[in-house]
Amino acid sequence: MATKYISIQEGMDKGTGKVSLRGWVHRERGSSKLKFIVLRDSTQLIQCVLKRDKFDAQWDAIDKLQVESSIMLTGEIKADERAPTGFEVQVDKLEIVHASDKYPITKDTSIEHLADHRHLWLRSRKMTAILKIRSTIFGAIDEYFKGEGFYEYHSPIFQAVQCEGGSDLFHVDYFGKKDVFLAQTWQLYAEPAIFGLEKIYTISPSFRAEKSKTSRHLTEYWHAEMEMAWADFKDIQDHGEALLKFVVKRVLEKHKPEFELLERDWKLLEPTVKKPFVRMTYTDALKILKDKCKMDVPWGKDLRTIEEEKLTKLYDVPVIVTHYPKEVKAFYMTEDPKDPKVVQGCDFLAPEGHGEIIGGSHREHDLEKIKQRLRDDGEKPEEYEFYLDTRRYGSVPHGGFGLGVERIIKWICGLDTIKDAIPFPRTMERYKP
Ligand code: ATP
Ligand code: MG
Repeated sequence: MATKYISIQEGMDKGTGKVSLRGWVHRERGSSKLKFIVLRDSTQLIQCVLKRDKFDAQWDAIDKLQVESSIMLTGEIKADERAPTGFEVQVDKLEIVHASDKYPITKDTSIEHLADHRHLWLRSRKMTAILKIRSTIFGAIDEYFKGEGFYEYHSPIFQAVQCEGGSDLFHVDYFGKKDVFLAQTWQLYAEPAIFGLEKIYTISPSFRAEKSKTSRHLTEYWHAEMEMAWADFKDIQDHGEALLKFVVKRVLEKHKPEFELLERDWKLLEPTVKKPFVRMTYTDALKILKDKCKMDVPWGKDLRTIEEEKLTKLYDVPVIVTHYPKEVKAFYMTEDPKDPKVVQGCDFLAPEGHGEIIGGSHREHDLEKIKQRLRDDGEKPEEYEFYLDTRRYGSVPHGGFGLGVERIIKWICGLDTIKDAIPFPRTMERYKP
């Protein structure tokens, strides 16, 4: 009968008796009579003990086993408080699946070397913990939107009209045509679909030629976006808040062990689930920055990272800043009916100085006004004909937002850099491996 392998976690849950496990050698040490192997699989670590008298014929190979070798074994599991994870297996049978070469990553490997060996670093305990949380976050975003009656919808990655300012576009050679670039956002291709589906969302890659080397910009990132017909500005903010609460709640339910491994104080995330977010206008944000942080931002200037950081450190929940000056925001945002100098756009700023995580707005649905805003921005409305049709045939008030998935992973996991929030980070300097 074929051996039934179980995970290390399942073995530890069982606690006693015979188990068959398989995985990789995480650590090893030995003497002439004994070999200790810490075995790793996707679920856990466990100490395994091999006695020479049981493995005489195999001893030479066992003695030479290096870290990251892949093995399968059968033995008796029992609780042992001296073992690193509280359990130990006395091994009766061992099969070496692949004896690893000398592993190029050691304890004191530099950050650059780890980046060059990203494909190997992915199997580290730290990256595995982050990637588990990442998987839960993607699932939770889906679950939230499906639960709220949104349809999943897909927009093209090759695009020919831009939406967020032309400076950070990635142009591609499209059969010799040069006016094609990679999507910065789905928005212009999402708005046409709300006339059929009304409420839609996606999670898809976005591309931005970010020349800045910050800890929160990637050139390729995963963008969760929603668009909703009939929405007013408050609906957009409410969905953003409810989505973040839902995602953080799901992660907290499932990932205490990963937080422990990452040394992330998960209690700092609880207010996000339990308390209402702080909402303030841009103008109020300037007042607070002046009064509480002694920072003087002239009205009309966009908030810089340092100002966002100071502002969010005053609160333990995300801050939603609304009603920015028209000049600092995109052409498609509606003017505030009470004050046309500002627009109905919002940025969600994460606590602990992690910066912007969501950008959203109510969209201008009047054809003439949106054409004027395009001209004011130096764009040619003629090039937006397909998009302007959304304002010609049954235009409706609507809105949406975009959330940077790696931005919330960085915040939730408490990471220093966004690069650790994605398996193979792409930045200005790095596109390999
Ligand atoms: P920032 O000011 O931080 O560059 P932005 O205003 O350019 O952000 P939006 O155009 O509103 O961002 O994009 C929506 C969301 O996408 C942002 O709130 C952020 O979470 C995420 N995002 C934007 N640019 C990047 C990037 N280069 N890397 C990772 N996430 C990003
Ligand atoms: Mg940007």
